[in-house]
Amino acid sequence: MLAVEQQRSRESIIRLSYTDRLTGLPNRAWLHRRMAELAARPPVVPLSVLIIDLDRFRKIVQALGQGRADQLLLELADRLRHGIVGRDVLIRTEGDEFVVLTEESSADITLLAERIIHNLEEPFSVDGIPVSLSGSIGISTPDDGQDMEERLRQAYTALAQAKKAGRCCYRFFHPSMNRQADDHVILASALREAIADNRLTLVYQPQVDLRTGALHGVEALSRWNDPVLGMVSPGRFIPVAEETGQIRELGIWSLRVACEQMADWIARGIQVPTVSVNLSAIQFQDPELVAQLGAILHQTGVPPERLIVELTETAMIENFDQTVATATAIRNLGIGLSMDDFGTGYSSLSNLAGLPISEVKIDRSFMNGFGSTGNVRQVVTAIIRIGHTLGMTVIAEGVEEAEQCNQLRAIGCDVIQGYYFGRPMDTAALDTWISERRVEPVPVA
Ligand code: C2E
Ligand code: CA
Ligand code: CA
Repeated sequence: MLAVEQQRSRESIIRLSYTDRLTGLPNRAWLHRRMAELAARPPVVPLSVLIIDLDRFRKIVQALGQGRADQLLLELADRLRHGIVGRDVLIRTEGDEFVVLTEESSADITLLAERIIHNLEEPFSVDGIPVSLSGSIGISTPDDGQDMEERLRQAYTALAQAKKAGRCCYRFFHPSMNRQADDHVILASALREAIADNRLTLVYQPQVDLRTGALHGVEALSRWNDPVLGMVSPGRFIPVAEETGQIRELGIWSLRVACEQMADWIARGIQVPTVSVNLSAIQFQDPELVAQLGAILHQTGVPPERLIVELTETAMIENFDQTVATATAIRNLGIGLSMDDFGTGYSSLSNLAGLPISEVKIDRSFMNGFGSTGNVRQVVTAIIRIGHTLGMTVIAEGVEEAEQCNQLRAIGCDVIQGYYFGRPMDTAALDTWISERRVEPVPVA
């Protein structure tokens, strides 16, 4: 009896020493024992290591007190436990630090890291107090070396990089994996940080009235200069944002910033008649868009006719009825509606007539060989004529040369936008551009 009893207590002591008291998860001692086992008997499927660490946890403990912080950690452990799959093991090593050992492939680990970060974004509730958390993740995979202890150290190095990159993100130890910036998932993670940290900016490209030479308006274009990835073009990050759903947030952000900027121009008496903002087709399917637009105008005090939203033809292909409904509601608010990149899609002129469009933008691809072939010129002439018949303003995009200007004027185009007049620029440069410009009819070259 005594022997059995002693054996039981020994087992329960061992179990306790390998278990985290708060969460019931395996603890650091367990991790080290497991590492030793793995070193002695390498597993068939080598394991990867993820280290998850909360951002600014000490501040949270200070604010909540230890008791509530413990509750928070319990809830956190629960969420993390639900995020992992199959034979993955979740370990609480200390405080707000958790480790996952997983057999998943690198691609699936990326998804796992994405999922963890996403799960943390949902606010927690402790005693009815809402708490927002964010975490950083360092990852080391078997590609980075065979030794498990080494892999753990590398994951810590990657974690430090993730923290340095601005927190709320994950980093692989293997540098080439970080360099695969083309990888949508990595780009998506960096973009999420950029949006959250308000590191995207807008630049503005002038649009000039061909008859008077006056500034007709500006188009707002997003820019992302990432500390790690460098300058990422919208041609790359907009599709990623659309794929991950971040486009809603990005779209609302650009509407808000553009309207705030317009309010500033109005307040300073700077003559910028309109600002155009690009909206993704996805946003036109969003039932909240119209209300959000109304709220932004209300909050910034910008008159609706000073704002134009640009939509592309893909919006209509995806769901024509919904797009018509949204477009009509936008026009009813008094906001302008512009058909962007016209002539590139599968669009037809009938689409133009079916929507309450106030402006059409001829795609810049038409500017190539505009002078040399009669065909292009005829198509552009037809678009301008039809646009005018429908009561729309016609803008030509991508105008780079004086000769294109002349031709466009000859066939009755209203407005031009392109490097010929000005590149997209930040607000300071635009201020200078406006003040140094003499307004006169665009000269015939
Ligand atoms: P877009 O709406 O057709 O914008 C015009 C693009 O043409 C801009 O490229 C502009 O820099 C470029 N461009 C202007 N003039 C000239 C010219 O004379 N020659 C040439 N070669 N290019 C010219 P950017 O800024 O790289 O934007 C690319 C696209 O990304 C935009 O095309 C738009 O579809 C999208 N985009 C940019 N910002 C946003 C945004 O905030 N939201 C959404 N949904 N899309 C955006
Ligand atoms: Ca546009
Ligand atoms: Ca365009």
